[in-house]
Amino acid sequence: MVQITMPLNFLGTVYREIRQSLVDMGEMFELLEQPAEVADKPDAKPLAIKDGSISLDSVAFGYEAERAILKGVSLEVPGGQTVAIVGASGSGKSTIGRLLFRFYDVQGGALRIDGQDVRDVQQESLHDAIGVVPQDTVLFNDTIRYNIAYGRDGATQDDVVAAAQAAQIHDFIAALPDGYDTAVGERGLKLSGGEKQRVGIARTLLKNPPILLLDEATSALDTETEQGIKEALARAGEGRTVITIAHRLSTIAEADRIVVLEKGEVVEEGTHGALLEKRGRYAQLWTRQQADEDAA
Ligand code: ADP
Ligand code: MG
Repeated sequence: MVQITMPLNFLGTVYREIRQSLVDMGEMFELLEQPAEVADKPDAKPLAIKDGSISLDSVAFGYEAERAILKGVSLEVPGGQTVAIVGASGSGKSTIGRLLFRFYDVQGGALRIDGQDVRDVQQESLHDAIGVVPQDTVLFNDTIRYNIAYGRDGATQDDVVAAAQAAQIHDFIAALPDGYDTAVGERGLKLSGGEKQRVGIARTLLKNPPILLLDEATSALDTETEQGIKEALARAGEGRTVITIAHRLSTIAEADRIVVLEKGEVVEEGTHGALLEKRGRYAQLWTRQQADEDAA
């Protein structure tokens, strides 16, 4: 009994952690052979991507019945645009990402990609369409090549190098004595936070998803490292629909639109300039962060 329940519990924990941190998607589900809590409908079709537009229509959701986390959130992300979601910790930002992946089902309203309700499509196709760069990229105890190539089945060395170049980590890797064969992770070369994020970006670029979700992708980095990663992320977002969740507002000022979430509700939205002029919640957050940065 013990032998059976132990690994199952372990897998359950791993699964929950992955889901919490949005680390990686379809492949991980298959790897763990854990049935997702949310099942495909018998007549589910593969998601058909047109321009990758995302629409939240009065989405309501809570993890527990007695506590609403999202209280009727409506949000449009036109295909190819970048929308930033900002707000205090616990306001429900990452929850929106989890619903996009359909790790959970909405309890009210609907979430659609190119007009298709995520509840009606095959989850594998949904997970294939979305690439995530989380706060901390998890590296496998394997070579750098493996860690990048994991983004796509059958990736060639040329594919891996091209992705690493775009993520601006190729020169670093090429300078290592073993290059792409260098072992990394807990039992190998320890990479800095910024290097790990670049490997994560390369992995996501290799996957080449039409939709990109950046969940606090630079928030574990110091400001200087963040500047370098910002460029790689901007490049990664070209030609894709991007939802970027950020704590540091300086990283999202160039987004096509910024949405301010407060206690599960959208309280403001607009461009950085328009929101500053409005002198509302966003302007307040901005002023406070500028003051903090000047003090630091
Ligand atoms: P944010 O990303 O804005 O910091 P989250 O979307 O992660 O916030 O979380 C919103 C709220 O939901 C928080 O209060 C958090 O504690 C709660 N929450 C997140 N995940 C779970 C879960 N698996 N079970 C119960 N509550 C959760
Ligand atoms: Mg979060």
